[in-house]
Amino acid sequence: MKIKTKLTLGVGLLFLLIILLSIVGAKYINELKADTENILVANYNSLEYSRNMLVAFDDGSEKALQKFDVNLQNQEKNITEIGEKETTSEIRNNFEQYKSNKFDSSFQASIRKDIFRLMDMNMQAIQRKSEVAKATADKAVFWIAITGTMCFLIAFVLLVNLPSNIANPIKELTESIKQIAAKNYSERVHFESHSEFGQLARSFNTMAEKLEEYNNSNLAKLMMEKRRIEALINNMHDPVIGLDENLKVIFANEEAIKISGLTHTELIGKLAQELAIKNDLIRSLIQDLIIGETDNGQKQEPIKIFSENKESYFEKETLHISITPTGEANSRLVGHVIFLRNVTTYKELDFAKTNFIATVSHEFKTPISSIKMSLQLLENEQIGKLNDEQKNLIDSIKDDANRLLKITGELLNMTQVESGNIQLSILPSDPKEILLYAINATKTQADQKQINFEINCPDNISKIQADNEKTAWVLTNLISNAIRYSYDNATIYLAIQQTSNQVQISVRDTGQGIAPQYKDKIFDRYFRVPGTKKEGTGLGLAISKEFIEAQGGRINVESEFGAGSTFTLTLNKAT
Ligand code: ADP
Repeated sequence: MKIKTKLTLGVGLLFLLIILLSIVGAKYINELKADTENILVANYNSLEYSRNMLVAFDDGSEKALQKFDVNLQNQEKNITEIGEKETTSEIRNNFEQYKSNKFDSSFQASIRKDIFRLMDMNMQAIQRKSEVAKATADKAVFWIAITGTMCFLIAFVLLVNLPSNIANPIKELTESIKQIAAKNYSERVHFESHSEFGQLARSFNTMAEKLEEYNNSNLAKLMMEKRRIEALINNMHDPVIGLDENLKVIFANEEAIKISGLTHTELIGKLAQELAIKNDLIRSLIQDLIIGETDNGQKQEPIKIFSENKESYFEKETLHISITPTGEANSRLVGHVIFLRNVTTYKELDFAKTNFIATVSHEFKTPISSIKMSLQLLENEQIGKLNDEQKNLIDSIKDDANRLLKITGELLNMTQVESGNIQLSILPSDPKEILLYAINATKTQADQKQINFEINCPDNISKIQADNEKTAWVLTNLISNAIRYSYDNATIYLAIQQTSNQVQISVRDTGQGIAPQYKDKIFDRYFRVPGTKKEGTGLGLAISKEFIEAQGGRINVESEFGAGSTFTLTLNKAT
């Protein structure tokens, strides 16, 4: 039954019973009132009249007889009982006769007897009627008790049932809603009744079922997506390792596991910092993450890994993954993905290329040197006099031979740099001596353009810790560049300065300078500023940088486009 119907029926019945109780009560009170009034009016008055008549009759005076008459008249109007009328008219007859013959005692006796009979009659009527009133009162008590009991029973039933009927389902529902809020979507409510709570329970269960279905379908979808991504990562030919924000390994594909030399269980779920203690590869992979270094655009050397009995080269790329959580404004780091690109094939090709260049340049050196020697012999007048045209031709061949020798020299140096085999013999060296050597080597080139050198070098300059030959090569290259990119009749400023533990050698020209966007690129291999007309390979500065850095020094450039450039070498002082 519905709660509303239950409430309406219960309270309605209670209401009806209260009305019934009021009606029954009012009815019996009225009946009782009528009974008592009846006694009062019909019999009590007759008794009063009879008593007055007796008193007046006993008095016997004229006034008393008048009073007797008045009371008799009242009695004649108040006839209520059977036989009362006859007795009253007998009193009247006897009284009339008594008035005409006052000394006849038979009338007196008759009157008295009749009055007593009248009184007796009314007394009996009073008794009878009071019994009727008592019966009415008993009936009233009975019916009022019955109606009252029913009221009590209904009220009691309502009192016992209704609060729990309403409160229990609400309590159960509240508990279930809490469970749903805690994502326990299998929760159901079970109200058997057909009341509103039954409907509510059905609606709630439908809602929970749909939520469960939705949740399960989402979970299944997510699991499917997860497996898809896992399969994708696993099928990648390049190793991929995923780390969370605390550097715990969350996934690694088969390639990554293979090259790490660890098993799946040894790798997944472990902190990379702990793995790095024993595993060189992991250490080199997470080094920059641990020291918090960000990729500053510098090209990193490929990592060499020995796995499956062969050497492989990998280029590392680290992606830092950040997400913006729902409802938040700022993104937050959630992990890192390390990709290793297998560049072994390119590396092998690169080796082959380097070897090829090394061999070719080496093979070129001897014939070029013999060409140069032959040219020197040709220039010797003892062999034969040359005319001007022949001299010009020889000069031009000499220039070309020199250039070829320079190029092969640069290429040979480059192969050393690329193969990582820079042979250094670092000794305490005099920077001024190296500088003078380089100036001397470029003197002819400078003379051709009428370029002067201005040297600024303190006398007590300290020795530097350097490879003489390589540093001289670098300085020659820098001065040669300065000459090439300066205008005729210009001056090149050469300076040596020292700090507490370093010596700086600078080469300053007043030539065309370098545009700011190319300043960082000129040290890259084979890079030449676009539009550079002068001949060259773009290798000189790259080799210079490698040579100087291999000696623990550094090279940098300051340039004002259109006003000239200053290249500075910084090398450590000899101790
Ligand atoms: P190259 O053989 O082309 O000179 P380098 O590596 O020595 O190769 O120089 C790279 C590029 O840097 C050159 O092509 C040139 O454009 C620029 N460069 C080098 N030195 C100077 C300089 N002193 N003034 C202006 N540009 C220069």
